[in-house]
Amino acid sequence: MLTVENLSVHYGMIQAVHDVSFHVNEGEIVSLIGANGAGKTTILRTISGLIRPSEGTISFVDQPIQKMAPQKIVSSGLSQVPEGRHVFAGLTVQENLEMGAFLRKDKQVKEDYTQVFKKFPVLGERKNQDAATLSGGEQQMLAMGRALMSKPKLLLLDEPSMGLAPIFIREIFSIIEEIKAQGTTVLLIEQNANMALSIADRGYVLETGKIVLEGTGEALLSSEEVKKAYLGG
Ligand code: ATP
Repeated sequence: MLTVENLSVHYGMIQAVHDVSFHVNEGEIVSLIGANGAGKTTILRTISGLIRPSEGTISFVDQPIQKMAPQKIVSSGLSQVPEGRHVFAGLTVQENLEMGAFLRKDKQVKEDYTQVFKKFPVLGERKNQDAATLSGGEQQMLAMGRALMSKPKLLLLDEPSMGLAPIFIREIFSIIEEIKAQGTTVLLIEQNANMALSIADRGYVLETGKIVLEGTGEALLSSEEVKKAYLGG
């Protein structure tokens, strides 16, 4: 579904991503893990069209997207939940979800609000409340609900566990598994290697802008290198 080949990204003179290649098959959860500053967010933002690569290609459902405008990329079925959520604080929960559906022209939108409220009951309870009044975990749910309202084929999640209490982290990860079960493919970027690899079909480990390891979620979880560097063992 998504193929990234020989991707390099620069910020001025600084090279943040070095010749990175990976892919995501339809129906998978793929986790990209790595420490602070490894280049995870840069890769996601490049896939979403917010940053242009200096080299390499990105293909999504057999179409090159590395030069496509971000809104066209969303329309083609790829939606990103950014790091730190970035919900529209002054808009209500309902209005935030409407923003997610903004580019859609089909008539199924109403039904999809019902689906989102089913997945995240707390959003239904608070749909007329300003997003600013939600807790961090609830804002993460709203950001995910908003992304789902664009009806993506592929959902990109940037550190959904960041800053959340363990109980919320477990809830968010179980919802990610549910999203996959319902047919949406997921690319997950995380510092929380344990959680991210536990639910992943496959994963990649990123260090200073390069992929240094890849394998099934299970194999990476039991790899000595991953344990030492990311799982505190
Ligand atoms: P984090 O988990 O902290 O977000 P990350 O793995 O997502 O880390 P990136 O944010 O992609 O890492 O950063 C990769 C590298 O690029 C870092 O060295 C960072 O300092 C640098 N970088 C990121 N954004 C910019 C920018 N706008 N200008 C210059 N350098 C940047």
